[in-house]
This record gives sequence, structure tokens and C-alpha cells, in this order.
Amino acid sequence: MSLLFHIEARAGAARAGKLVTPHGAVETPVFMPVGTLASVKGTSNETLEQLDAQIILANTYHLYLRPGTEQVRKLGGLHRFMSWERALLTDSGGFQVFSLNDLRKVSEEGVSFRSHLDGTSLFLSPESATEAQIALGADIIMAFDECTEYPADADRARRSMEMTLRWAKRSKEHFEKNKHLVPWGSTGNWQPATGNSGATQSLFGIVQGGMHAGLRKESAERTVEIGFDGYAIGGLSVGEPRAATREMIEATLPHLPAERPRYVMGVGYPEEIVEYAALGIDMMDCVLPTRAARHGLLFTGEGRLNIKNAKYADDQGPVDPDCSCAVCGRYTRAYLRHLYSTGEILGQMLNTVHNLAHYLDTMRRVRDAIRCGNLQTFVSGFRSRLQLTP
Ligand SMILES: [Zn+2]
Repeated sequence: MSLLFHIEARAGAARAGKLVTPHGAVETPVFMPVGTLASVKGTSNETLEQLDAQIILANTYHLYLRPGTEQVRKLGGLHRFMSWERALLTDSGGFQVFSLNDLRKVSEEGVSFRSHLDGTSLFLSPESATEAQIALGADIIMAFDECTEYPADADRARRSMEMTLRWAKRSKEHFEKNKHLVPWGSTGNWQPATGNSGATQSLFGIVQGGMHAGLRKESAERTVEIGFDGYAIGGLSVGEPRAATREMIEATLPHLPAERPRYVMGVGYPEEIVEYAALGIDMMDCVLPTRAARHGLLFTGEGRLNIKNAKYADDQGPVDPDCSCAVCGRYTRAYLRHLYSTGEILGQMLNTVHNLAHYLDTMRRVRDAIRCGNLQTFVSGFRSRLQLTP
């Protein structure tokens, strides 16, 4: 197994530890910024390194369309292509096929769909999605799944879950046969990894089951039977109420092996990532901090702040007086409001830095609280400052 996972401290169900990937260690629980097109929108890799982001995510679907996963492989893989030497994770493309394509056709073999860019007919299967992810060469890759739509009745959710399980097996088989083709070790021209370090990619399985606790349990147990390096809970944040998201996470967690990393895909607001880390989740990702930043929505320890609001025109304070990021150390709310209202690109960039700093710092504080044994006090303090019930 090339992905080592050490749990170093526990607080209730929560764990703090380290995920050791071929491209460096990642402290968990971790929030992973999303770099859809091999770029975390609005920021540079230098800034991400300064913010101490240890792992970022890229989307296979988007890179499959542009520049093409074969093209990235020819250029030495995603780490080299985007000049990011730390850990990377790619999703399988399943979620984007389901969220961006109304005209998709799902069959046992895979999904045919049209590119959201130019309407070209395309096809993704467990085999081709895995092949694309091996070509990209992220440290952690995901099995191809069907993201069950919301709402879905129990019959529909079961059929979808059964197919995801069959696809999980096919993803794993294809991965085991082809993982030696990962493009690491290249000097510009693609060549297979020499394999002398034994390091390779790791494949995670994805639990589905809609909003049905019984199906989530069954999906977890049968995904674990297939056997993966880590386990994700997918099919959440698809329009369900937040109480249902939490209920499905709680229904799944007891059926995942405690010694492997556990990842909730596509969440969430700051209070959610704190809540799910406290439940025992190790990894999370979401476009929210970067997307919100580009729309002028900033997250602070005392709640959300809409920088376009006229009341900030005279505000000489920083976005968040408790934030240690470079933006809060230098710029005023009045200036950020001015940049936003005049459409200056710098405004979106600075907002992005602050929001990512807030998310990464929040998870750092969660990890510290787990290690110091005061997680409950931290969580209730965090929630009361946001004026949420403890
Ligand atoms: Zn800040």
C-alpha cells in the first residue's frame, strides 16, 4: 500500500494524523482547495505554498476536455505540468458528468455525454476514467461512480448504488493492471515510473446510497469488501437539507475501517467542515471559499461578510482582525470594496487568499484542538462566534 495513514491523536470520534503520499505528507483532518482546471482560481501555487496547502484537488472531467489527459501525460503528468510538487487528488469525473450534462445517457458500460463546451460526444467508463486519472498522475485518485440525484426514492437509489459498486470493482481492476503507467520520474517526455521506490497512486472507493441510511451502510460495507486505500462519502451537497448531509455521514462512518482515511466530497461552509472533522472525517474539499471570494463573499471568525456592501466604503479595518493572512495584515475593507466595485482582478485575488487562509487556518485549529484534547471547547466557541447553536 503506497498511502500510509498514521492517526496520532483522537478526541471523541475525531482524529488528527498524517497521510503520507508519494509527494509529501498531509496533516489531517485537511481541507483541500479545488483547482478545477489545474489552477486554484484566482491564486498562484506560490501563494498556496505560503498558505501551507499540502494537497489540492483537480477535476478529471475538465482536464479530459482541456487540454486532454493524454496531453498532460505527455508533459510529464499533472504535478510537472502545473509545477506543484506537493500532493494532488483527482476526482473521477463522475460528479461533473452528472452535474454539467443534462443529456447524458447512463448504461452499464459507462456514461455517454456531450461536452459542455462544444457539444462533442464523449464517453466515460470506469476503465477510461481510471486511465485518465493514471495519465494525470495525482497521488490519490477516485473510483468512477454514479452520483445519485436528489431526491431519489429507495428503489432508484439502490439501483444506482448497485451500479456504483460494479463500477468500483471495474475501476479497481483497471487500476491494479495499469497503475505502473503513472508518469512520474519523467524529464519532460513521458516514461513509466521506474518503480524502485514502490510508490504509486492510491485509489479510493466512493460510498453512495442517496439519502437512505440503510443503503449507505450497505454501500459502505460492500465498498470496503472490494478494498481500497481510502473511502469517500459521495452524493452529498446535491441539494439536500444540511441535516440530511450530516445524517448520511453519521450513517456511513461506523461502517468504514477506522485505520483508513475517510473523505467527504464537496463540502462545505466553515461550520460544516469543523462539524464533520469532529465526527471523524479526515479529508474534505469544496469550491466554496474560492468561488465565494470571486463574488465578494468573505468568511470570517464572526460570520460572512459581503464586501460589496456600501457600509464598507469607509471601513479602515481588515477583513478579519483575528486572521493572520497577508491580506488582513495589509489591506482595508474599504480598499477591497473599492477593488470589487470597480471590477479589478486584484480584488478577486485578494479575496481568494483570505478565504483560503480562513479555511486552512480553521482546519489547523481543529487539528491543534484534537491534539490538545480541547476539541469540544473549540467547536462550541467556533459555533457561538458564528451565532449558531452550540
Ligand atoms: Zn485574512
